[in-house]
Amino acid sequence: MNKSVNFHPQARPRHLVIVLGDQLDSDSAGFDGFDPELDAVWMAEVAEESTHVWSHKARIALFLSAMRHFRDALRQRSVTVHYRQLDEAGNHGAFVGELTATVQRLSPRKLIVVEPGEWRVRESLQMTALALGVILELRPDRHFLSSREEFAAHAKGRKQLRMEFFYREMRRKHDVLMDGGEPVGGVWNLDADNRESFGKAGPGDVPLPVSFATDGITLEVLTLVAQRFAGHPGSLAHFDWPVTPQQARMALVDFIEHRLPDFGKYEDAMWSSGGGNESAPGLGLRDLSSASELQLPRPSPVKRQRTAAGPSGAAHALVRRDAYLFHSRLSASMNLKLLDPREVIAAAEEAYRAGRAPLASVEGFIRQILGWREFVRGIYWHFMPGYRELNVLDAGEPLPDFYWTGKTEMNCLRQAIGQTLEFGYAHHIQRLMVTGLFSLLLGVRPQAVHEWYLAMYVDAVEWVELPNTLGMSQHGDGGLMASKPYVASGKYIERMSNYCQGCRFDPAKSTGDDACPFTTLYWDFLLRHEKFLAKNQRMAMQLKNLARLDAPKRQAIQQQATRCRAVCRQPAAAV
Ligand code: FAD
Ligand code: SF4
Repeated sequence: MNKSVNFHPQARPRHLVIVLGDQLDSDSAGFDGFDPELDAVWMAEVAEESTHVWSHKARIALFLSAMRHFRDALRQRSVTVHYRQLDEAGNHGAFVGELTATVQRLSPRKLIVVEPGEWRVRESLQMTALALGVILELRPDRHFLSSREEFAAHAKGRKQLRMEFFYREMRRKHDVLMDGGEPVGGVWNLDADNRESFGKAGPGDVPLPVSFATDGITLEVLTLVAQRFAGHPGSLAHFDWPVTPQQARMALVDFIEHRLPDFGKYEDAMWSSGGGNESAPGLGLRDLSSASELQLPRPSPVKRQRTAAGPSGAAHALVRRDAYLFHSRLSASMNLKLLDPREVIAAAEEAYRAGRAPLASVEGFIRQILGWREFVRGIYWHFMPGYRELNVLDAGEPLPDFYWTGKTEMNCLRQAIGQTLEFGYAHHIQRLMVTGLFSLLLGVRPQAVHEWYLAMYVDAVEWVELPNTLGMSQHGDGGLMASKPYVASGKYIERMSNYCQGCRFDPAKSTGDDACPFTTLYWDFLLRHEKFLAKNQRMAMQLKNLARLDAPKRQAIQQQATRCRAVCRQPAAAV
């Protein structure tokens, strides 16, 4: 396998550079001063990383395939890589065991690692190095535009941390979408232009994202994951994620050219071609634990389809269109460090300057990356390790079983979860205002919600997932991350999607047999947390509406909410 090493693989390296599964960047600080004659790289696939949360098969496969491609690219450049495959005999199944064995075998003079993205991993590496008596050098992660120290400086002395102010600082500092000292177009934020729904006609002919071929390495990994993690959630049938920097760049070019122009307008919109109709080619309706999920994609050339595919591909094309719409699906590539966010931001700005995309789309897209992505990382490191345990709303319900199966009568959840199981992907509003909203309204323990999100998405890594889930979505941090809880009734979902059409529930109703559980639980949430929410000016309008409900209505809502919670607690509940 390792044909081009310059020194004997068993020789004592000067430095052993640890490359974690989400650090696949050969220009990272870990490689500064790297001498292939003296130094070596260490990478390990360990089962623990796929089982500490019950990971989606596609998430596991993406990490493993990207890691193996990275290993081979390094070896082609004559770098010695000590690589441990998951299926190798004697694999310890955990980082600590694997690293200990390697350090004892090779006795490197020093271990080097780019600061890990996860608190747990950083602690574990530091403890292992200490126990082994070997120096561990942590180097800064240059992937991000804002260092942890810069974020700390931004946070210093502020009573509240808000993304908008951080984002403006970042725009100025990195001269992004600026005309001299002013924001391009005269305003910083065009969010108000980015809230359209598709209307009755639906999204139409959306250019589908480029799909990547299953090469030998990916096929090997898909087979391994299907066998080894057969009981894990999700499907591998549509695995087509970029697994190399070249592919990630192609995905970026494809997005900028074909979907960025409409990204802004439809950023919050959701759609299902089946509507609420079970016989349509929707998602989440088939049993994903059946044998069919083990069918793997066949190797195919890289291609980009339009939704108007030939008859055989038409149903699948609609399913992919509904899943990705005008989104970039670049998060996983960036989080694995296959793609540099600077390149993504520059490509979007260039499209605007060249007149190929409107400002509302470009600003909206750049805000997600230069603003939200950097901000949540800052929040994570600023407040960890305590952040993970926060539960300000004292929510204690278990996560309903249907989150793992998609089997629920609530069409919006069935679509969003079904799509998640199918692709390991859901866009932001599906995560925030469907799956996240329901667990918030139901009162699910935020740590259980966190574990689900960390398990289910191909882009899930803790530094970005945790603040989004525990903070933005569940308000478990009491407002450190977001200025108010994102709560709404079923009417919001009705406005932003076609999910409610054909659903057995009515989004306008909060009580009765056909009351929408979102709507019932929304009012119940406001009632349960009225005192806490009254301290927040931004909740004034919602509380004013609550005040209009008379006592019998309040009681009926609370009784219905109690019944709803009882049903959701049952094993294999199918609300
Ligand atoms: P697009 O809609 O095309 O957006 C462009 C890029 O902006 C994304 O690729 C992403 O890098 C960045 N971005 C957008 N929103 C956010 C955000 N809120 N925080 C950070 N970056 C953002 N994102 C992850 O990368 N990993 C996660 O594990 C993750 N978990 C989430 C959990 C919850 C409950 C919520 C509400 C959001 C979560 N997000 C997460 C943020 C966001 O939903 C995803 O980044 C986005 O849906 C990825 O799809 P995309 O690449 O097509 O994004
Ligand atoms: Fe979801 Fe309620 Fe609409 Fe049904 S009626 S799709 S449960 S919001």
